Amino acid sequence: MAYTIDLTGRTAVVTGAGRGIGQSIALMLAEAGADIAVTDVKDEFTVETVGKVKALGRKAAGYAMDVSDFAASHAVIDTINAEFGRIDILVNNAGITKDTLIMRMNEEDWDAVLRINLKGAFNCTHAVSRIMMKQRTGRIVNIASIIGLIGNAGQANYAASKAGLIGLTKSSAKELASRGVNVNAVAPGFIQTKMTDVLPEDVKQAMLNLIPQKQFGQPLDVARAVLFLCSDLSAYTTGQVVVVDGGMVMS
Ligand code: NAD
Repeated sequence: MAYTIDLTGRTAVVTGAGRGIGQSIALMLAEAGADIAVTDVKDEFTVETVGKVKALGRKAAGYAMDVSDFAASHAVIDTINAEFGRIDILVNNAGITKDTLIMRMNEEDWDAVLRINLKGAFNCTHAVSRIMMKQRTGRIVNIASIIGLIGNAGQANYAASKAGLIGLTKSSAKELASRGVNVNAVAPGFIQTKMTDVLPEDVKQAMLNLIPQKQFGQPLDVARAVLFLCSDLSAYTTGQVVVVDGGMVMS
């Protein structure tokens, strides 16, 4: 028997969807049939992804949403719910890095990363949870990182935000399970995007040496795992962390 994933009639909100992993997730969900609310910190960042989703024949609209702003995130999520009529899927993908050793890390670097990567996911989860609980169905996927599992010198703020996101995933999964809402995390390893392009060559080489599959991941690799977690195939899976890293971290 062949299994297919069909998200026709469902609406997905993807944060930080203007490029990189977020764009890939938006396109993968659209290919599976979902309509997509493309959100990013600035309106103009959403244009490319909206065009690509529409080219796939799905409904799409772009929204400026700074996930770190509680009131603004709620206002945008409410607008999306009104304009699309429902929200079935939320992918908390927006994230930043501000890497440096703890000794050199200033308060702004710490606060910015925690505010966007962790509080941002809380803000959007808080905003959609009432909608999904009322519908008695929903999927929330948080894009964490293997760094949240293993830590990394020079990334204390990022590691703390992603470890926190895993805690948020498990807690919201427990709170929302009885209402038909599944919450899971995907923890990517080293994925080739603009976020990792800026790393020095020697750091990239050192990373590569730690990956059993001997290659970096692509946004599509992450998107495939997200698609599974947004589909009916993962109905009995909640509160889990799916690692997509070419075998870099095995627990
Ligand atoms: P990216 O920098 O290419 O994309 C991040 C997106 O988030 C951008 O479109 C950006 O505009 C948006 N964004 C930034 N601040 C925002 C805010 N305040 N509100 C809304 N949107 C905001 O990065 P990426 O590599 O595609 O990363 C996507 C996610 O995957 C991040 O959460 C990142 O931590 C995670 N991740 C990436 C890797 C990797 O190797 N690239 C590995 C593990 C986890």
